[in-house]
Amino acid sequence: MKNEEIIQKDLKYNWHPCTQMKDHEFLPLIPIKEGRGVYLIDFEGNRYIDAISSWWVNIFGHKNPYINEKIKEQLERLEHVIFAGFTHEGAVKLGERICKLTGFDKVFYADNGSSAVEIAIKMSFHYWKNKGKIKPLFFSLENSYHGETIGALSVGDVGLYKDTYKEILIKNITIPIPKDKSEVEAKKALIKARVIFEKYYKDVSALIIEPLIQCAGYMKMHHPLFIKGLKELCDEFDIHLIADEIAVGFGRSGSMFACEQANIKPSFMTLSKGLTGGYLPLSLVLTTDEIYRAFYCDYKELKAFLHSHSYTANPIAIAAANATLDIFENGEWIDGELKVKSEKCKVKSDGLSVLEFNKKTSDYIWGSVQKFKELSNVKDVRQTGMITAIEMIDYPWEKRIGLKVYQYGLKKGVLLRPLGNVIYFMPPYIINREEIEKMVNVAYEGIKLLE
Ligand code: PMP
Repeated sequence: MKNEEIIQKDLKYNWHPCTQMKDHEFLPLIPIKEGRGVYLIDFEGNRYIDAISSWWVNIFGHKNPYINEKIKEQLERLEHVIFAGFTHEGAVKLGERICKLTGFDKVFYADNGSSAVEIAIKMSFHYWKNKGKIKPLFFSLENSYHGETIGALSVGDVGLYKDTYKEILIKNITIPIPKDKSEVEAKKALIKARVIFEKYYKDVSALIIEPLIQCAGYMKMHHPLFIKGLKELCDEFDIHLIADEIAVGFGRSGSMFACEQANIKPSFMTLSKGLTGGYLPLSLVLTTDEIYRAFYCDYKELKAFLHSHSYTANPIAIAAANATLDIFENGEWIDGELKVKSEKCKVKSDGLSVLEFNKKTSDYIWGSVQKFKELSNVKDVRQTGMITAIEMIDYPWEKRIGLKVYQYGLKKGVLLRPLGNVIYFMPPYIINREEIEKMVNVAYEGIKLLE
């Protein structure tokens, strides 16, 4: 089937996410036939560099040979089994690995980021209830994003997604964020946060944050000192801290997990996206023994966490997650390609080789984006780890300026998906220098045309 035929059939039956479907009267859908490394390839052979890792999930490239192999092996053994009353080898392996990697004690599974956030806020509230306290409120940060189910949307603050539903959301209290990445702004924001903590703490179960980078919130970044200070406030006022690392976990922030940069250990951590290398839906909620024990008692006490999803801990998704962790543990760059050494000759178990390589890649991206600072329509250029953002000035007469850059990118073979007037790069970690040059130059030309 050629592109056009597929597009027509798709639009007849499918309703796409985060899309005003009428846009497709002028904005053609792009049917993808194949993925290969950083490239997406359509039915006519056009190739697009996936500069956003397909909504930030695909960290080791499309059609990754190692992850493919591990999923195929799993398919021959077990595709799915109920996770209540039963278990399987992959989940045992992943649970142990994730706990050792993060320092948490327990893993609860779900199948997408929003569900993980729902679970974390329910668990936090339920913990306090089991301890005899009713704390119905949550703190969250200004400009935050945690997903689009009702609970997750409630603790978010991006008007575009939230405002329509305000009448049906649960109540939360918003804490102002630092104006930029500096230490000075982090300190100022912490002073404001303290005032809010003092006023509401008695009724608050948890504070939820996106550590270091608010991705869907226009790639706003803050200093690690900010989240360190928030953790201290949570400890002082006896409130849980939920670190939502769904977007920034697994190396995206520059460290394996963003919390490491502030040297904090939250009460809960949510993970998804890069967890399966971008192959299958899976999410995790990590927590401590202390919290787990508050639910552990005789059945008749009714304290158990009775939350479930049909596909909890799906074995195929877990095989993809274990393969992704193998790459972090044993991946090595050989002749410009990321290869997994066999488990027998394992040399490192701290994921350093991928992260070290990412550091070089992000430094190279940072070097190549300096030229954006000279454009009169660029307001800010910022980077944290493997996320680089170019913020354009406001165009009061043109609400969808990013769309123009998106269209230009597609014409030139790069998938950029701006957030408002912020154009960002969040490519698979396997992107090479030539591909970086192309990705950056296409964005540069697209923005320059709008000067
Ligand atoms: N939390 C954060 C920080 C996210 O970036 C996202 C998704 N962009 C979510 C939660 C929700 O994840 P999902 O789209 O898988 O529901």
